Amino acid sequence: MDKAKKTEQLKHIRDEVVELKNSPLYLYRKENEYFPVLGEGNHDATIIFIGEAPGENEAKTGRPFCGTAGKILDELLKGAGIKREEVYITNIVKDRPPKNRDPEPVEIAIYAPFLERQINIIQPKIIATLGRFSMEYIMKSYGLESELAPIGAIHGHIFEAELPYGTVTIIPLYHPAATIYNRATKEDLIKDFSILKKITEQLIK
Ligand code: URA
Repeated sequence: MDKAKKTEQLKHIRDEVVELKNSPLYLYRKENEYFPVLGEGNHDATIIFIGEAPGENEAKTGRPFCGTAGKILDELLKGAGIKREEVYITNIVKDRPPKNRDPEPVEIAIYAPFLERQINIIQPKIIATLGRFSMEYIMKSYGLESELAPIGAIHGHIFEAELPYGTVTIIPLYHPAATIYNRATKEDLIKDFSILKKITEQLIK
């Protein structure tokens, strides 16, 4: 699929999420004049990053990872020599949960089909999950349930899944916000981002 077609199909997804009145987060979005956060980046990206849900800054601007967690993500990308504009960044849940609480299973169930469509349109070779919610969803959804373990045990590990468009490498990463209270997590993330960079280079050779 060419890039223009991908952009058009991604726009359809945006239009549907904007009107997603059956989401439990729709009213909260409207009351606060927030935006849904669909994702941003290269529609032909090799890597897609999948976070949890927008925070306040993201909901106010409509852009993923533009607040505190975003600054940490930017640092990690820069440190690994990965350009933010070359990747695609999105979340599993597209609207902000009140007070940044964890997403509820029903919210994940409502928004995940949009994420799956985004993946099948962009067709990334690598899926990098940020945090346990997107890790659990992606691994279960792509036939890796038996490999699922706590994120502390499998972050930075490489998994493979067959998607309708081809083989995908999946790498679970800690959520960047986890580094705020835990310095050791930052070291792990720095290491894992260098693994990510290495596998990207191997795949695009
Ligand atoms: N945390 C996330 O998981 N996603 C964002 O977009 C921002 C913070």
